[in-house]
Amino acid sequence: MSKPLYELGDRPPLGEVPEKMHAWLIRADRFGKPTEAFQKEVVNTPSIADDEVLVHVMAAGINYNNVWAALGFPVNVIAARNKGGEPEDFHIGGSDASGIVYAIGKDVTNVKVGDEVVMHCGQWNRNCEWVKGGGDPMYSPSFKIWGYETNYGSFAQYTKVQGHQCMPKPKHMTWEEAASYTLVAATAWRMLHGWGANSIKKGDVALIWGGAGGLGSMAIQIAKAVGATSVAMVSGEDKFDYCMKLGAKGCINRNDFDHWGMLPHWKDNAGYAKWLKGVRSFGAKIWEVLGEKRAPNVVFEHPGESTIPSSIFVCETGGMVVVCAGTSGYNATVDLRYLWMRQKRLQGSHFANAVQCNEMNELALQGLIDPCMSRAFTYEELPVAHQLMHDNQHPHGNMAVLIGAADFGLGASGKPSVAIAHPTLPKGDVHTTPAPYPMSTPLPGIAEGEALTITDDGTKVRDLMHHGIISCAPDDTVGTVAKVMVDKEIHAVVVMDEQGQAVGVVSQTDMVLARQGRTPDEARAMQARAIMTPGCATCDADMLLSDAVSLMTGRRMHRLVVTENDRPVGVISMTDVVRKIIGE
Ligand code: NAP
Repeated sequence: MSKPLYELGDRPPLGEVPEKMHAWLIRADRFGKPTEAFQKEVVNTPSIADDEVLVHVMAAGINYNNVWAALGFPVNVIAARNKGGEPEDFHIGGSDASGIVYAIGKDVTNVKVGDEVVMHCGQWNRNCEWVKGGGDPMYSPSFKIWGYETNYGSFAQYTKVQGHQCMPKPKHMTWEEAASYTLVAATAWRMLHGWGANSIKKGDVALIWGGAGGLGSMAIQIAKAVGATSVAMVSGEDKFDYCMKLGAKGCINRNDFDHWGMLPHWKDNAGYAKWLKGVRSFGAKIWEVLGEKRAPNVVFEHPGESTIPSSIFVCETGGMVVVCAGTSGYNATVDLRYLWMRQKRLQGSHFANAVQCNEMNELALQGLIDPCMSRAFTYEELPVAHQLMHDNQHPHGNMAVLIGAADFGLGASGKPSVAIAHPTLPKGDVHTTPAPYPMSTPLPGIAEGEALTITDDGTKVRDLMHHGIISCAPDDTVGTVAKVMVDKEIHAVVVMDEQGQAVGVVSQTDMVLARQGRTPDEARAMQARAIMTPGCATCDADMLLSDAVSLMTGRRMHRLVVTENDRPVGVISMTDVVRKIIGE
């Protein structure tokens, strides 16, 4: 061994693994702003197991999950791993990468030292009974996202991956381009190709939400490759050209419509009729873009709460709405009549298995997937790249950071068999929607989520509720809302719009969330609409208290807005219940 540590950009001879490596580390004592949480350190190069591969990282992709890892919220990934028996008191993130294989475990057969690879981010235990029995590893309880739920991701000179994660690097791509597409493209591949009879095929129509975003840009290209026609949804006409160059037949500006959001109740005749008018005109716009009266066979969903009702409505009879996220909220409302009478499918989808990742990568190898890399950063800028994401100031498209590559633009050594246009995003384009919640927030299972039942003594919600609503406007500052909370000694404030409708709730938890990675002044200056939990769980004043308790505990909520004739009139909280059942 010639040197125990090599400087970045200075690669050891093939197969020679130095004892130490440079890496960007997150430690628990500096959780917070990405620019402070990520620090450069030198650590021991990890050793590998029999089914693992050590890759010299040339470039890494940037994803939102490591903004959450930096904040240490909502999951402290280091503590979670320590609890699982892993000793390291640090986290090396990074769930996308390109690099060169430097060492392989004895059971690895798909790559050899010296191979140029990209890596997918799915890991599972090969000894899991489900996986051994041939089950889809995506359903294995051992499934983890490499570089978020596991240590030794790609933000270091060397990363430790399972053999199946390595796939051939497209020769025509630079290191940074190759590091940027796998997570989103593989997710989009499973969504479009992983669901049996509803998988996309030649001649189908696909409606793609967020066409200029990470997932959407991949979905347009995957749909095109199979011979399907796609209609892309975007928030501005300046993104039309980008989506059309990627292969969309046409685009729709979602800001031309205003019926988004949760479905009005079916008993609310006026509200439902208004929604129906909006969604019908949206459907007619799809026909106009297609030039024929056809409904989408597949709707590619991730905004969730605000768009699912429309997605289900416009989907073709027997078609599928496939969803992998709820960027705008998690309560998807569905008019079941359209679901069962027209026999549509609402399908959840999460990342992809190794077979699907490789099927996707075949397209990338042929040149049929442009990585849509919007910005690459130097090694030094890794924390800044995450800070931009945290502050919602990052461009659309996929971002990457150089690790071992000495400069931008290196690593391309061939031409693709098919050359496609390289579209560029509109100048100055940055994200406008708040950051999505992390996809790996632990979900309660049935047992944990069981609703509590208290004895029904005839008490009604109106007997205990607080009359009157303490509310704020959506554009009130967080500072103002916090003062109301403190002055009135309440735990949550209802957000009411100009029509007097409750549109959300700002709770103490939302306040704590808003403060993560921000100074007190920055958090105070934000608007209530940016931090509120959208939508409001309601109950009628005449509901039995026992039913309201079951509703709150079953849905893990602390309070309900009380309505009378569908108008908010008060709030009932678990504190009120405790006061009655124990305090009295
Ligand atoms: P992205 O690059 O931010 O793109 C999402 C796009 O959705 C936005 O650019 C925006 O485009 C559009 N959008 C935002 N709010 C919307 C709303 N209310 N209604 C309609 N469209 C809206 O993000 P991404 O990489 O595509 O990822 C999208 C989501 O999927 C994220 O939550 C991400 O965490 C999740 N994800 C899940 C998996 C998985 O395996 N489960 C994998 C990857 C990503 P316009 O403003 O132009 O409409």
